Amino acid sequence: MQQRIQRLRAALATGGLPALLVSAPASRRYLSGFTGSYGCLLITPEAALVLTDGRYVVQVAQQAPGFALREVVNPGRPLPEVIAAAASELGLHGLAFESAHTTVAEHAKLVAALGGAMELLPSEGMVEGLRELKDADELATLRRAAAITDAALAAVLPQLRPEQREREAAWMLEVALREAGAEAVSFAIIVAAGPNAALPHHFPGDGLLGAGRPIVIDMGARLDGYHADLTRTITLGPPDARFHEIYAIVLEAQRRAIAGLRAGALSSDVDALAREHITAAGYGPQFGHGLGHGVGLDIHEAPGLRRAPPNGAGAPLRAGMVTSVEPGIYLEGWGGVRIEDLVLVTKDGSELLSHAPKVGQASENL
Ligand code: ZN
Ligand code: ZN
Repeated sequence: MQQRIQRLRAALATGGLPALLVSAPASRRYLSGFTGSYGCLLITPEAALVLTDGRYVVQVAQQAPGFALREVVNPGRPLPEVIAAAASELGLHGLAFESAHTTVAEHAKLVAALGGAMELLPSEGMVEGLRELKDADELATLRRAAAITDAALAAVLPQLRPEQREREAAWMLEVALREAGAEAVSFAIIVAAGPNAALPHHFPGDGLLGAGRPIVIDMGARLDGYHADLTRTITLGPPDARFHEIYAIVLEAQRRAIAGLRAGALSSDVDALAREHITAAGYGPQFGHGLGHGVGLDIHEAPGLRRAPPNGAGAPLRAGMVTSVEPGIYLEGWGGVRIEDLVLVTKDGSELLSHAPKVGQASENL
């Protein structure tokens, strides 16, 4: 934790900022270890405070021993007033806040509480930028979360039957994740069968899994706050010719993108490696989302692997980033295929964190 705060202080100095109010829950946890549902941090070059309410006094002492607590009391001593008092006590003349994680109402209350005593400076992505690079502890946790996810999928695949419903399969996967050691699911599990698989984020319903048609399963274990994210597309029983065609294109697109992942590669170039293969096969418009997203304390975080902005390019990747690589092709009325793995970017290439098999699996089970 101390190293993370040092990195933030260095970033503050580089940006010429006197202090940062950290409101995003994942960033708050990243810097302090505090996992409570409410509160924020105030970090200056010398001080590190947690501002939260009485429910968390004991928890802050346990989880964030390096932080001083300033207690919020609702009603009576609301958060903006506690922030203003702390800033004044620390002699601050300005205070940066996370504009992407501060509502207009919160900002207005903070302005009122500060009463013009100091400047409020909008900032974006400061802690998110630090969180892009995973340290050894984070990598160990992500590896375990990915392994739990692999194990849960492997436990459930042989039990799936065409007459089961999507929601039953989703629940079996959720139970398996918890039994394998997950503290929670990373997100509501997606099981999308047949035409439903053409919707990238279909919510599992009463539809039957069915025989021979694509079933997209997107799932992940959450462990110590860190998220795994894995997608496999299977069929129960022999698939049609189209499945073989589409599956092979998506798998090759993913292989090409992973082969191009390395420190220094532009995120938009890695997206292009997959997208150009899918486009050359005639399915460019049917791959309507980005290639991947960073994963960590948030299920979707920086960096993103996506198309370059007009007249621009994505940022260079750095060793220590963990990203999903998840090309997909979605055909309305038929279904879709998505294959997603978590990958660690290294100096010379990349390392797969997901190890669930990709070919053969349940297709030949039944
Ligand atoms: Zn996913
Ligand atoms: Zn994903």
